[in-house]
Amino acid sequence: MQTPSFDILVIGSGAAGLTLALSLADHANIAIISKSPLLDSSSQQAQGGIATVMAKEDSIESHLRDTLKAGAGLCDPIVVKFTVEQARPAIEWLISQGVMFTQEETPQHKAEKQKTKGLFHLNKEGGHTHRRILHVDDKTGYVVVHTLAHQALNHQNITCFTEHTAIDLICEHDQCIGCLVLDNHAQELKLFSAKKIVLATGGTSFVYSHTTNADRTTGDGIAMAYRAGCRIADMEFQQFHPTCLYHQNSTFLISESVRGEGGILILPDGTRFMSAYDKRLELAPRDIVTRAIKTEMDKHHLDHVYVDITHKPAEFIQKRFPTIYQRCLDCGIDMTKEPIPVSPAAHYTCGGVVTDLSGQTTLKNLFAVGETAFTGLHGANRMASNSLLECLVFAVSAAKTIEHELQQLPFSKINSKTDIDFHETEKQKTTHLPVESLYQSQMSFHGLAQIDPSILVSQRGGEEKATGVYMSYMTVANDDANKAENQKTKGI
Ligand SMILES: Cc1cc2nc3c(=O)[nH]c(=O)nc-3n(C[C@H](O)[C@H](O)[C@H](O)COP(=O)(O)OP(=O)(O)OC[C@H]3O[C@@H](n4cnc5c(N)ncnc54)[C@H](O)[C@@H]3O)c2cc1C
Repeated sequence: MQTPSFDILVIGSGAAGLTLALSLADHANIAIISKSPLLDSSSQQAQGGIATVMAKEDSIESHLRDTLKAGAGLCDPIVVKFTVEQARPAIEWLISQGVMFTQEETPQHKAEKQKTKGLFHLNKEGGHTHRRILHVDDKTGYVVVHTLAHQALNHQNITCFTEHTAIDLICEHDQCIGCLVLDNHAQELKLFSAKKIVLATGGTSFVYSHTTNADRTTGDGIAMAYRAGCRIADMEFQQFHPTCLYHQNSTFLISESVRGEGGILILPDGTRFMSAYDKRLELAPRDIVTRAIKTEMDKHHLDHVYVDITHKPAEFIQKRFPTIYQRCLDCGIDMTKEPIPVSPAAHYTCGGVVTDLSGQTTLKNLFAVGETAFTGLHGANRMASNSLLECLVFAVSAAKTIEHELQQLPFSKINSKTDIDFHETEKQKTTHLPVESLYQSQMSFHGLAQIDPSILVSQRGGEEKATGVYMSYMTVANDDANKAENQKTKGI
C-alpha cells in the first residue's frame, strides 16, 4: 500500500480547499485530494456571487444585521461580525489571484471608474438590504474555481490527487494523523499521513431526491469527522433553494439574482403570490420564499410554479444571465419570452463539523472549512452569497493558524515510531476492505431525504427528524464497509 506523506492534507478542491491550500503553499508541502476532477465542485456551480460590503451606502453593521435576521436568531454574532469584517481582505486576496469581478458599465460609472478605479457591479439578493453581491456575470463560482485551480496546479508545493476519495480519518492518541484514501481509477487504497488534515468536502444536499447539488455532495467529510468523534451541529438546518429549474432532463439553479433583477414568482394562471407571505416579496430570505412556494404548490396541487422576468428587455436578460439563458434555451425555454418553471430543491447544509474561528475542529490537528464546517455563521438559514464568503474567510483564517502551529513543530515529518505504528496497524485494518463498495455506497444515499416542511421551519423544530435522517445516513456509511465485508465472508 502506498503511504504518501505531506505537511498538510486538504480533502476537497472547492473554493474552501483551494483557498486554504494556496494560502499555505509558500510555507508547507500540501496534498489536495478530490474524489472528482479538480474543477468539479459545488463552488464552480455558484452563479450568484459573494456578499461583501462595497457600496458607499452599505455598512458592516448592515451586512451583520441582515445575516443575523436571515439566520432566525440562531447565528453566532461574534462569528458573523468576524466574517463580514474579513470579507473585504478575502475579496482582495481573490482579486490578487486573478479573479476579475464584473464592473459597472453605465456611462456615469465608466467616467467615475477612471477616477476611482474598480467600481464593481453589485447584485441584490434575498435578505440583503443593500446591493452587495460581487459577481462574475452569472458564473462567479466557475471563474473563482478555475482561477484558483490554475494557481494550485502551477504551485510547486501543491500536489493534486484527483479522483481520489477519502474514506476515513486515521487517528492515534486523540489526534488526527492521516486519512485512508481510495484511488478511484486504480481501485487501490492509500494511507496519507499529514501534520494537519483539513476537511473541505462540501455539504450533504445530494442525499435529497430533488437537489441543486451534484452527486459528489454526500457529506463525506461530516460523516468522517462524526465517526472520528468530532462534534457535529445543526444538521437539521438544511436550506432549500426556492427556484430550481423544474424540467425532466435538468435540475439547474435559477439564481436568486433573477429575482434580484425584478423576476416575480407566479402561479400557472399568472397570479403573483409572495405578497401573501412577506412584505419583501420575492426577495424575502430563502426559507420564507421556499415555504411560500411549497404552500402554493400543495394548495393548487402543482409540481412547480414560475419565475417570470419577461417584462425586462431581452437584451438585458441575455447579457445579465448568459448561462441561465442558455441552459433554459437548451431545455426549450426562452426566458426572455416565457416564465421559467421552478420548484424548491435541497441546496445548502447549514450545519456541519463544529469549528472555532480558525477552522479547528474538536479533534487535534483536524480542521474543517467551507460547507463541511459549522462555524455559527448561518444559524437556521444561510443568507444568499454568504457561503462562498465563509469558504474564503475561514480558509484564510485556518491557514494562518496552521502556519503558526507548523512553525512550533520540529522540522521532521511524523516521527519514525508513529510511522511504523501507522503502517502496521492501519494496513492490517484496511487491507481487506471491499474497495469497490466504498465508492458506490455513497451514491445509494441519493433520495434518502425528501423536502419536508417541518425541516423548512426556521426554528428548532423538525430537528429530531432531520438529524435522524442524517445520523442514520452517517451510521450506514460507517457500517457499509463492515456489512460488505461480512457479506463477502458469508459468500453473499
Ligand atoms: C448550484 C449552486 C449555486 C450556488 N450559488 C452560490 C452563490 O452564488 N454564492 C454563494 O455564496 N454560494 C453559492 N452556493 C453554495 C456554495 O457554492 C457552496 O456552499 C460552496 O461552494 C461550498 O464550497 P466548499 O469548498 O466547501 O465545497 P465544494 O465546492 O462542494 O467542494 C467539495 C469538494 O470536496 C470533494 N469531496 C467530497 N467528498 C470527498 C471525499 N470523500 N474525498 C475526496 N474529495 C471529496 C469534492 O469532489 C469537491 O472537490 C451554490 C451552490 C450550488 C450547488
